[in-house]
Amino acid sequence: MECDRCGREAVMHAAYSGAHLCGDHVRAAVEKRVRRRIREDGLLPADASPESPQTWVIGLSGGKDSVVLTHVLEETFGRDPRVELVALSIHEGIEGYRDESLDACRTLTDGRDLRHEVVSYADELGVRMDDVVEKDPENMAACAYCGVFRRDLLETYADELGADKLLTGHNLDDEAQTALMNFFQGDLQQIAKHFDASLGSFDRRTESTHFVPRAKPLRDVPEKEVALYAHLADLPAHITECPHASEAYRGEIRELLLSVEEEHPGTRHSIMAGYEELAELAARRYRDDGTEDLNECERCGSSTGGRICRKCRLVESIEAV
Ligand code: SF4
Ligand SMILES: [Zn+2]
Ligand SMILES: [Zn+2]
Repeated sequence: MECDRCGREAVMHAAYSGAHLCGDHVRAAVEKRVRRRIREDGLLPADASPESPQTWVIGLSGGKDSVVLTHVLEETFGRDPRVELVALSIHEGIEGYRDESLDACRTLTDGRDLRHEVVSYADELGVRMDDVVEKDPENMAACAYCGVFRRDLLETYADELGADKLLTGHNLDDEAQTALMNFFQGDLQQIAKHFDASLGSFDRRTESTHFVPRAKPLRDVPEKEVALYAHLADLPAHITECPHASEAYRGEIRELLLSVEEEHPGTRHSIMAGYEELAELAARRYRDDGTEDLNECERCGSSTGGRICRKCRLVESIEAV
């Protein structure tokens, strides 16, 4: 098959659009969608200037998604004085997994003269995921602990680094899975929160005063194309899966979605188009004004609805074992 754009040999056929593309045009198409998403979501405010630049902190795990996101952002904004990019990696303390992916992060950022910060569960919380899995005081899946810790550290450090936005590498498949999971769980409040937390464009969401606003510039790009981009651009992405990966429900939804997409190309895109509209309606119905009454955690100062935040309660119960 030939590339629709230039006639060279195609390396990809996108069933949802009918396009056949060569390597160069796959890369161009991915970059175009990321830039369009950044524009449409209003990530770069009109008043950003060299004197008053935006700081964008990128959650960089070393996996293909965050590596591609970091690369495209650096290519696009690396020399733009209105934007300062900082990559932030979290070390969970998972033997034989995170060290290698951090090597990938360092190779990527060193080669690009990009500021890169690493924070670890061990230094910040006094726990390592390998030990958490062994102790498991709450009888929960590894990712349930890990997700709470990661969110907290990303938030804390994004704030400390002066972030205006926190950008993560979620792709189209991730977002369509989350949409379906929220539907299947019948959780409209969660859908409303999703809109304001990261889904809606910045002019349509109500931002919380307690958290750094998030965005997902890769969310229009299917997972397979992100992987192909990483390969074509020869990026140092780490592909091994975490040995504690345990999001069983998401795994089922992923399989389901891939099989429906196979039979009905374009399903992920149409799910997201409808979901975003629905999420905005849900947000209008359920959102508060973004200044909800949150307290400072008595232990760590993070925002929480109670006296002590969930992260601190989990750390405490791990330490008690
Ligand atoms: S797969 Fe789960 S345990 Fe492993 S790093 Fe991700 S969230 Fe943490
Ligand atoms: Zn081409
Ligand atoms: Zn706390």
